[in-house]
Amino acid sequence: MLKKIAILGSTGSIGTNALRVIEALGDEYQVLALSAHSNIELLAQQVKKYKPEFIAITNPDYAKEIHELVGNNDIEILTGPNGMVEIAQLDEVDILLAAVVGSAGLPALLAAAEKGKRLAIANKEPLVIAGQMLLEKTKESGGSILPVDSEHSAIFQSMQSGKREEIYKIILTASGGPFRKLSSKEIENVTREQALEHPTWDMGPKITVDSATMMNKAFEVIEARWLFDMPVDKLDVVIHPESIIHSLVEFVDGSIIAQLGKPDMCLPIQYALTYPERVEGIVNRLRLEEIGNLTFFEPNLEVFRGLKLGFEVARTGGTTAVVFNAANEAAVEEFLAGRIRFVNIVELIEHCLNKHSNKNDVSLEELLETDSWARKEVKNYLQSGHKSLI
Ligand code: MG
Repeated sequence: MLKKIAILGSTGSIGTNALRVIEALGDEYQVLALSAHSNIELLAQQVKKYKPEFIAITNPDYAKEIHELVGNNDIEILTGPNGMVEIAQLDEVDILLAAVVGSAGLPALLAAAEKGKRLAIANKEPLVIAGQMLLEKTKESGGSILPVDSEHSAIFQSMQSGKREEIYKIILTASGGPFRKLSSKEIENVTREQALEHPTWDMGPKITVDSATMMNKAFEVIEARWLFDMPVDKLDVVIHPESIIHSLVEFVDGSIIAQLGKPDMCLPIQYALTYPERVEGIVNRLRLEEIGNLTFFEPNLEVFRGLKLGFEVARTGGTTAVVFNAANEAAVEEFLAGRIRFVNIVELIEHCLNKHSNKNDVSLEELLETDSWARKEVKNYLQSGHKSLI
């Protein structure tokens, strides 16, 4: 049966990979709609190649130019931030693949969840800050959420070999970042340059820092809590620097099922689109004899305090996770600008969490208000002369 796909964030790295995957999948998969923020040149190329029926450009400054570039095609052009929501609500959309930076795609995901669509969520923020809301809406409408994050895709794939209630533990693997072997004392002195070197994946500076602090894994714990509706006690993290095993599920009988593959986002993207089928795609095959050894060790939660906090935040739920995410983003910005040290990132997050009182069952507006409160709190704290941070 024909599957019609909408991609939010089609000009980013996940978006462009998703288009390559869809192209290789053949006629059964059709690109119905694309959205981009401001990269109109690439969006126009994608329109010519994939012939979507709808596009959205979320930055209204580019509305005129995109009309000039592609207006002669048989296509409906939506402009402004609401364009993503309009796409998400289209009756024809079977799968909504969201790969938009930050929480910008959240209103569209919530709209699609209400309509019972399959959501393929690539970035962490929607599930971190609004996981419970997305889960509830999906349950009500009979929709589904499929992971595109490599670890969660691995968990989802491994889960297929048993029943939910037979799961003993979910084990997320982590590269551990460049500081995985450092002591609490040694991590005090790491520099910006050291934090921006990542051993396995080539990513933007924000995500690279999140990998060095292991905050990315903290977010993934929260993500897993909602995505799989699992109690936090059943979630665990193991460091696996080679990033070949993307995660594992341990069942009650002691069997551990893992998913392995080359570090390549195309496989999780493809599985989210074709599930429950598996088909041939464009992924490079893994040859174990080329890999040789795989290693594993336990993360030191005294060094990676952000990861420890992540488990607590996943347990608490509510607006705490919003503060956790926003404070981290603001703190990483300060770190990248050279205004604070590496270890201050988690200190700023702790400060914001301590100052915040958690609320459950809040609206999207309240979530977004909490988000801006935490960002401001990071700035205020630094401006009020906490010199000890530098
Ligand atoms: Mg990941």
